[in-house]
Amino acid sequence: MGNHMRTQKSRFYWTIVAAAAASVMGCAPQQQAPAQVAIPDALAPKRWVDVTATLDPATTPIYEGDAPMKFEFLKDLRKGDAVTLSKYSLGAHSGTHIDAPMHFVRDGAPIDRVPLEPLMGPARVIDIPDAVQAIDAAELNRHQWRDAQRVIFRTRSSVRGWMVSSNFHRDFAYIAPDAAQLLADAGVQLVGIDYISAEQFGAPPRTHRILLGRGIPIVEGLSLEAVRAGDYDLIVLPIKIAEHEAAPARAVLRKRIP
Ligand SMILES: [Zn+2]
Repeated sequence: MGNHMRTQKSRFYWTIVAAAAASVMGCAPQQQAPAQVAIPDALAPKRWVDVTATLDPATTPIYEGDAPMKFEFLKDLRKGDAVTLSKYSLGAHSGTHIDAPMHFVRDGAPIDRVPLEPLMGPARVIDIPDAVQAIDAAELNRHQWRDAQRVIFRTRSSVRGWMVSSNFHRDFAYIAPDAAQLLADAGVQLVGIDYISAEQFGAPPRTHRILLGRGIPIVEGLSLEAVRAGDYDLIVLPIKIAEHEAAPARAVLRKRIP
């Protein structure tokens, strides 16, 4: 969304006090290492690939004007404390996250009430050439997407490593409203993209309104560097925050065997 929209929207800074396990467990018996497989993880069937951007202020881009990300240790075993205890502070749209209808739809579902079904199941990763910034209807129709239940775009942002660079880039690839309309009309259950917004930078939030208006969750900020176009199983589950419009999520893909 645009700068002006960003400042209007309700910002949500969540704070979690997380206690890391400080158990002192005995060492597990040494196990023999499995034989090395020559196939890259992302291409091997039956293997889950993490497509979540690691939340780290050093490497995670933050949308212009959005909340800063801060992780701190309140207590630290390494410094002589009796426990390790952390505090997180970050915007709801940090890193890999899901936009719920509430983000742009009045009375739309908040993130804790987005149904599970769209968030797990078959998904198609579509490769968008580096030269393409606007994924419009014409670009969408250059690819085979019609029989896909969930559509994920792998764009210049992955090619250029933008989800693992703290610099915010305004010229990320985005889903244009006419493509969003096609996806929504076709009954696609979920749409995903590999930068922290699906909307053209500075544009009114038409794509968000079209998708969220149909109850279609939008996954933003996927880290698809290691993934190629094709059919996958997807699981993407947001943190369950009551009555807010978005939340960071963990996303994994597994290649489907034809
Ligand atoms: Zn978002």
